[in-house]
Amino acid sequence: MSDWKIGVFTSVDAGLGVDLEVAHELGIPTIQIHAPHQGNRTQGTADEILARLGQYNISVTAVFGGFEGESYADIPTVVKTVGLMPQETRAARLAEMKEISDFAKMLGCNVIALHLGFVPHDKQDPSYAEILGVTQDLCDYAKNNGQALHLETGQETAPALLDFIADTQRDNLFVNFDPANMILYGAGNPIEAVNLLGDKIRSVHCKDARWAANPGKEWGEETMLGEGEVGMDLYLHALKSIGYRGPLTIEREIPQEPTRQKDEIGHAVRLLNRLKQEIL
Ligand code: MG
Repeated sequence: MSDWKIGVFTSVDAGLGVDLEVAHELGIPTIQIHAPHQGNRTQGTADEILARLGQYNISVTAVFGGFEGESYADIPTVVKTVGLMPQETRAARLAEMKEISDFAKMLGCNVIALHLGFVPHDKQDPSYAEILGVTQDLCDYAKNNGQALHLETGQETAPALLDFIADTQRDNLFVNFDPANMILYGAGNPIEAVNLLGDKIRSVHCKDARWAANPGKEWGEETMLGEGEVGMDLYLHALKSIGYRGPLTIEREIPQEPTRQKDEIGHAVRLLNRLKQEIL
């Protein structure tokens, strides 16, 4: 695979990504795909998706897990509803992630990814050991399927995330880096985070955002790529300097405005192609 292939985050029947057709119409060669709804994680669905992607000449670089009941409405709601942290849904969602790992295998994809949720900052908090155990369990399951697990960034600072990964003692646990999330959640400067996380970064989102007035307490604002405060040129320079050559996956989650979503993804493709020529 050549370096820095353009990608886009897609969905079939669940999640906030664009339709596979949008990736095709924009001539994008790689996708990350949100896992389909629970009943649809079958060989039949995988075969259908693979047939369409084969026609379009698109490859899948990661399968993202996501769950019923998750909401990104505001930061406290994320804490309560997202990922494997909320205790009430943890066991059921871990079982679902294993199904998603099996589904990714049907798609021939060796990366699964997810938002873990807010990992406690205090290691003495009993839920720290619990989430560590759940993550180890999922890593081992994925490894058996020949896969790595990538954690979406944003909720944790880069040092906290590195520490957590080290504590799992698993060699197939890496990072899906999202620079806009660092800003949206107020988790630190995204460029410094790239440099700190270094070769733990094995997939990335290209997304942009502006800082909130009170970072960490309220949301920043997601923007069109290039119009936020990430600095796409700085971001790509940083990725180059850590030796990252994997796909650049555009994420723009405004499915309620599909026309604008497609336009803005098209704009992002042009911006990334221009920067890629200048920087890589
Ligand atoms: Mg993301």
